[in-house]
Amino acid sequence: MITWSSDVPLEELRAYQLKCINEQVFRLFRCSRRYRSLCGGTIETLDSFSDFENLPFLSSDDIISAGTDMVCVPQREIRRIVSLKTSGTENVKRIYFTFGDIERNISFFDEGMRPLCTAGDTVMIFMPGAAPDGISGQLSEGLSRFGAIPVRYGLISDYGEAALRCSQLKPNTIVGLPVPVRRLALTAPEIRPRNVLLSADYVSPSVADTVSRVWGCEVYLHYGLTESCYGFAVECPYHSGMHIRNDEFYVEIIDPSSGLPLPCGEEGIITFTTLRREAMPLVRYRTGDVGYLTEEPCGCGSKLPRLARVSGREKALSRRPNINEIDDILFALDDVLDYRASYGSGVLSLELLLRPGAELCGPERVLQEKYEELTIQTELWTGEQLPGKRALEYRD
Ligand SMILES: [Zn+2]
Repeated sequence: MITWSSDVPLEELRAYQLKCINEQVFRLFRCSRRYRSLCGGTIETLDSFSDFENLPFLSSDDIISAGTDMVCVPQREIRRIVSLKTSGTENVKRIYFTFGDIERNISFFDEGMRPLCTAGDTVMIFMPGAAPDGISGQLSEGLSRFGAIPVRYGLISDYGEAALRCSQLKPNTIVGLPVPVRRLALTAPEIRPRNVLLSADYVSPSVADTVSRVWGCEVYLHYGLTESCYGFAVECPYHSGMHIRNDEFYVEIIDPSSGLPLPCGEEGIITFTTLRREAMPLVRYRTGDVGYLTEEPCGCGSKLPRLARVSGREKALSRRPNINEIDDILFALDDVLDYRASYGSGVLSLELLLRPGAELCGPERVLQEKYEELTIQTELWTGEQLPGKRALEYRD
């Protein structure tokens, strides 16, 4: 039996994965008209990964337009449906999970969090999702299984209040989205948890560095997405790439132009195939996130490939300026807490939320150095919170 942390030889893992892939592919082919049509109406047993690599990709658009058609279990076995609105459109993407799908994710959270905390430790969770099977509910359940004490705070709207709760509860570990956790660290440097897990958004190296420097803590990275039932890959204490849930996903990095798989170390689209998904198997699902794998042995002893880095969304990275670059630049400055930006006709405009007393000239200067060819306009945001999540809108 292969589990997330099994350190089996790569060949053995691949044999297990190919067997699971065959099962998932045939099930999806049987249940989904859309998938049958994508495959041209026929399918044969996959004897090797080269056979597998001839299969079509699935994308967000397939889930949006044919989501229900891709459900492979009777309605009564569906435990949870997550509806996601695609940014900028009215389209809704619905992902389906059974009890078993959720249960296996909780086991991953249980195992994956153990290096960070132990029985009796308080873990503050600054993640969204009030539903019991949402991300913070599943994480809480995973933590409770080994006796850690989860506190489901939700997203932070009042940083003073969040800091006060932390000073009362003295969490050993804090879990949250990178930018809000960084802001909490800069607002309340005295909290000093031992460990921090950042997830659910692009983690700029400057964000991870600030959190670790200000709090003197270890920062762990996790990558996950709704389509993966949240959990996907997480760092071990050696911080040398995120260990993938190899029992649940077969991962490929795809060259965006040729559609061919790339070797370890080369950056492309993170693409995965579910191996044990009951409700909605996904085969060669292009996540739209860009990253690369590493096969350098990890300090923990694992020799299996890991997700070395996630650089951002394919769509964003194809443009200049892009939000990931701006994160890297601005979040290296402790004065900057958050921002919203828009770009069009050579003008990059930003509303910046700064630390009290800080001035706009610092951020303005570093942006101008990076984007010599652009006009930079900055404005101080004087409220407590920016309206909505940080973003870069393109006006043309
Ligand atoms: Zn490791």
